[in-house]
Amino acid sequence: MFRRVLRLGLTPGRPNRGLRTRRGGFILDWDAKVSDFKKKIECMLPGKQWGMPYDTSYLPPKQSDVVIIGGGILGLSVAFWLKKMESSRGAIRVLVVEQDHTYSRASSTGPSVGGIWQQFSVPENVQLSLFSINFLRNINEYLAVVDAPLVDLQFNPSGCLLLASEKNAATLESNVKMQRQEGAKVCLISPEQLQNKFPWINIEGVALASYGMEDEGWFDAWSLFQGLRRKVQSMGVLLYQGEVTRFITSSRQMETTSGEQVVLRRIHEVQVKMNNSLEYQPVECAVVINAAGAWSGQVAELAGIGKGLPGTLQGTKLPVEPRKRYVHLWHCPQGPGLETPLVADINGVYFRREGLGSNYLGGCSPTEEEEPDPTNLEVDHDFFQNKVWPHLVQRVPSFKTLKVQSNWAGYYDYNTFDQNGVVGPHPLVVNMYFATGFSGHGLQHAPGIGRAVAEMVLEGQFKTIDMSPFLFNRFYLGEKLQEYNIL
Ligand SMILES: Cc1cc2nc3c(=O)[nH]c(=O)nc-3n(C[C@H](O)[C@H](O)[C@H](O)COP(=O)(O)OP(=O)(O)OC[C@H]3O[C@@H](n4cnc5c(N)ncnc54)[C@H](O)[C@@H]3O)c2cc1C
Repeated sequence: MFRRVLRLGLTPGRPNRGLRTRRGGFILDWDAKVSDFKKKIECMLPGKQWGMPYDTSYLPPKQSDVVIIGGGILGLSVAFWLKKMESSRGAIRVLVVEQDHTYSRASSTGPSVGGIWQQFSVPENVQLSLFSINFLRNINEYLAVVDAPLVDLQFNPSGCLLLASEKNAATLESNVKMQRQEGAKVCLISPEQLQNKFPWINIEGVALASYGMEDEGWFDAWSLFQGLRRKVQSMGVLLYQGEVTRFITSSRQMETTSGEQVVLRRIHEVQVKMNNSLEYQPVECAVVINAAGAWSGQVAELAGIGKGLPGTLQGTKLPVEPRKRYVHLWHCPQGPGLETPLVADINGVYFRREGLGSNYLGGCSPTEEEEPDPTNLEVDHDFFQNKVWPHLVQRVPSFKTLKVQSNWAGYYDYNTFDQNGVVGPHPLVVNMYFATGFSGHGLQHAPGIGRAVAEMVLEGQFKTIDMSPFLFNRFYLGEKLQEYNIL
C-alpha cells in the first residue's frame, strides 16, 4: 500500500485534479499530501536518519487574505459571502479561527432558540429579517453540496406575537407601520381578536398586539450552522482551531479635520495560540473580521481599540460583552396547541412550542440589577421559579401544571450601548471589520450581516442593505440605534 502511494506520488506532472475516494468524496491537493506523506515514511525507513514524523496539519497557514476570528454563525456567514462574491474561484484565501470546535463554552449559536421575526423597531433590522427569510426559504440554492444530504432547517412558520400594554401600544402601532412600509406582513390585533384567535391567552393587561402573518417563526439553529460550515469548507475556506491572542500592527499619526491627533493602525499579523499548547502560529493577512461574538469586545481590545483617552475616538471601546441568558424547556399536555406562535409578553417573558409533543421553551432577560455572573454557564433554577413561571401562568393559565424538563444557558453578544449590531470597518484600525453585537438576534440576521460585511470588504460599500447606521462611529458620536424588540 505504501509502495503504491509512493509510486503515485512519484508520477511526474500528475495533474492536481482531485481523486475520488471510495466513499465518493474528493481528495484535493493530492500531490502535496503525497509528498508530505512520502517525507514521513522516508524518515522511518531502515538506514535513514531517525526523525519524528511530526504532524503539522493542525497548524493554520502562514498567510491568508482574510482571517475571520470566530467560527460561529456570523463568522461562517461572512466566510460564505466572501467566497460566493469573489471574482474568480480561489481568488481569496479565507481562514476561520475558532478557539472551541466543540462550541460548548463560548458560542451563542448553539443555545439559541432559533426565532426569526420581522417585528423590529429599527428599519434595517426588518430589512435584514426579510433578506434572511428569503435565504432560509431557498437554503439549498445557497448551501447544497455535491453528494451531501440537503439542509433541512425544520422551519416552523408559526408567526410571532408581540403583546403591548396601554403604555406601549402607540409604539407598537408605529413600529408596525414602519415594518409594513419595509414590506413585512404584520397586522395589529385588538384584545378581543386576540382572544378569538388564541383562546388559551388571558388578555388581562393587553391593550394591543401585533402578529406576523408570514415569514416569522423558528428554525433549527444547529442545522443552519452545520450547513454553512459544510458549504464554506467545500468552497475552500480553511477552518482551524486556536485562540487569537495578539495582533502585530503598524501605525501612523494623522490629524482629523477637527484637529484631533489620531493613530491609524493596520494589522499585519494575527497570532493564533494553539489549543493545549504554548505554541503560537503567526498568520499574515490583509483583512481581519472580528466575529468573536460575546468576546468581540476583548478581541477589539487586543488590537488597541478603546485604549486611548476617554472621550476620544481612540479611547472608544467596542461595547460588546457576554451576558448570560437561560432557556427553559417544559412539558405541559394541557398547554396551547400546534398554532402557538412565538409569544413575547409585555413583561419580557417569551415562549414558543418545541416540536409536536406538548413541549415548550422560553425564558426572560433579567433586568440590569439581576444580571447573572457570566463567568460560568450554570443555570439558576430559582430564576425560572420566581421570574418566569408566574408570568407564564398569568398569560397562559394552563401552564400552571407545566413540568420543567431541562434548562440551559448561553451568552448574548450583548451591546451595552444600544443592543444592536456592529457592522463594518473600525475607523482607526482600518483593516478590522466587525460582525457582532446583535444581542439576541444575530442568528436570524446572520445571512444579511455576512453579505453586508463581504460587500464592504470586497467593494468598499454596503450594497444590498445600507448598514451604515451600524458602523462603529456611533459609539464615539453617542448616536444610539436602539433596538427595542429583542427577547
Ligand atoms: C439563549 C439564547 C437565545 C437566543 N435566541 C435567538 C433567537 O431566537 N434568534 C436570533 O436571531 N438570535 C438568538 N440568539 C442570539 C444568537 O444566537 C447570536 O446573536 C448569534 O449566535 C451570534 O453569533 P456569533 O457567530 O456572533 O457568535 P458565536 O456563536 O458566539 O461565535 C463566536 C465564536 O468566537 C469564538 N471566539 C471568541 N474569541 C475568540 C478568539 N480570541 N479566538 C478564536 N475564537 C474566538 C467563540 O469560541 C465563538 O464560538 C440567542 C442567543 C442566546 C444565548
